[in-house]
Amino acid sequence: MIRSHYHCPNCKRASITLREKHSTGLWKIITCPHCHRRLTALPLLLGLFAGLHVWNIAWFTLWSYYKANPLWLLMIPVVWLILDILTLRFVPLATLKRNN
Ligand SMILES: [Zn+2]
Repeated sequence: MIRSHYHCPNCKRASITLREKHSTGLWKIITCPHCHRRLTALPLLLGLFAGLHVWNIAWFTLWSYYKANPLWLLMIPVVWLILDILTLRFVPLATLKRNN
């Protein structure tokens, strides 16, 4: 399930909001409000999902061309949304090195 709050991997408190967690899926760096540690989505897994996004666009673009049916292009935002949800659910947060 998608929770409204996510646990910080450093201080273990449920301090990360859904919006912040989602922004890490867009390669953004967030800061935990409790321990002020910088957090990011695990880069290796996030890279995998980025590859799936590219595959999604390439596959359905080619498929709609092959089938001569542009309705297949509607699958792109659907799969995109599914990949976003999977990123939220399965890509864990990781701590970055301290600022100072
Ligand atoms: Zn924290």
